[in-house]
Amino acid sequence: MFEKLLVANRGEIAVRIIRACKELNIRTVAIYSEADVNSMHVQLADEAICIGKAPANESYLRIDRIISAAEIADVDAIHPGYGFLAENAHFAEVCESCNIRFIGPSARAMGALEDKAVSRALAKKANVPTPPGSEGVVDNEQGALAVAKRIGYPVMIKAVAGGGGRGMRVAHNDISLVKGYHTARTEAEKAFGNSGVYIEKYIENPHHVEFQILADNKGHIIHLGERDCSIQRRNQKVVEESPSPLLETKFRKLRERMGRAAIKIAEEANYTNAGTVEFIVDNLGNFYFLEMNKRIQVEHPVTEEVTGIDLVRYQIMIAMGEPLRHSQSDIQYRGHAIECRINAEDPFDDFRPSPGRIEMYYQPGGRGVRLDTHAYAGYTIPSHYDSMIGKLITYGKDRREAMDKMSRALSEYMITGVKTTISFQQAILQDPNFRRGVYSTSFIEQLLSGARRDYLSGSS
Ligand code: ADP
Ligand code: ADP
Ligand code: MG
Repeated sequence: MFEKLLVANRGEIAVRIIRACKELNIRTVAIYSEADVNSMHVQLADEAICIGKAPANESYLRIDRIISAAEIADVDAIHPGYGFLAENAHFAEVCESCNIRFIGPSARAMGALEDKAVSRALAKKANVPTPPGSEGVVDNEQGALAVAKRIGYPVMIKAVAGGGGRGMRVAHNDISLVKGYHTARTEAEKAFGNSGVYIEKYIENPHHVEFQILADNKGHIIHLGERDCSIQRRNQKVVEESPSPLLETKFRKLRERMGRAAIKIAEEANYTNAGTVEFIVDNLGNFYFLEMNKRIQVEHPVTEEVTGIDLVRYQIMIAMGEPLRHSQSDIQYRGHAIECRINAEDPFDDFRPSPGRIEMYYQPGGRGVRLDTHAYAGYTIPSHYDSMIGKLITYGKDRREAMDKMSRALSEYMITGVKTTISFQQAILQDPNFRRGVYSTSFIEQLLSGARRDYLSGSS
């Protein structure tokens, strides 16, 4: 059993990991930047070490400082959370070489899936469909034009190192392709330090459906069903749910086929620990592999609610060398869960981040309501990190009940001092198409441009 674990992250996910550790009787060490002195994860951990200044590249992204903190505190393991260094194969390797267990896949498996163009090739090898596109990185304009000519417009230019919906561009013709090719490369260089891009057929109005995987160190791999994350703004998830309304109604045979495909990808990569295989599904029921997220995901709670399995606890058990306690047939799905990401952003001002001090804070509760957050009254949200301040999750015996609980919970959630996306989430919950479970990744764009924008103008 691990005695002590360092949490190499901040915000709600650091709190989530500390909670799992407390329940397992593992002592915790928080690391924090100068901007996070008063952050909840620092208060909840058994020990806390300041590792640098506010900007992430002077703190949460500094491998050397995090490893020093781990050695000073003498921990057995590091949990990286999501974002920051969670999918950095080099970090996993440094942990391994310092004899600190990295809670995630091996550096090798991470490396095999690190680059998205390489992951595409791996999926093909595993006989899992990918959107038509380039073989690997596209090195110049001519190469980009040749791929587009072969697969046809529209196409998407995507950063091989991309994440969080950044570094992608859609092109509908040669002119926008050449322009998009260069802007995507520049953006990718700035955001990820890697300008490599590849090209994929742009699938119109698709559904984002992903499968949660668990794999132990003995070669057992299971999936825990899917999450539908099609409610996105600028390719970033906003609402997630399980099960997927699409797989429950229109394409009932897909769950089993996609679940098997997800496991094949994990097998091909010699994957261990928790991971997520992301797909898009078109309107004919074809599915395509997008990428594998080699970490715990933001939206993991909806899977926990419908399967009754604690994913972070499982991550820790697997890292300690424990075999999976569930076989595929042990996994049962009950009821329905929905998650709304609550961001400190102003929905009336193009979702501009709204850092600052939370004055009043009242959070919803009651049966079927879960809130994963680090926010509290008096907390100052720093401007240096992403703007998610909490995740509201509701559970019901069916989708209708989960939605009703979500609307009720959103209406109770009161935060003053900063702007939040609570009212925007409420608008989504009230939308007739959302309520019917009929939506694609274009849902939010339509909501913001269509007749229903009155919700956001405050006139409703
Ligand atoms: P999920 O599928 O778990 O929702 P996201 O793509 O939304 O994952 O990313 C989770 C978090 O990690 C977000 O806060 C996002 O901003 C951050 N993130 C994701 N990829 C990167 C990256 N390559 N670099 C920095 N931050 C990232
Ligand atoms: P990230 O690493 O930023 O999460 P993904 O490849 O997972 O990037 O894509 C994020 C989102 O972008 C998808 O959920 C989907 O909405 C959109 N997307 C990505 N690739 C395509 C594609 N080929 N066609 C249509 N939409 C896409
Ligand atoms: Mg993704």
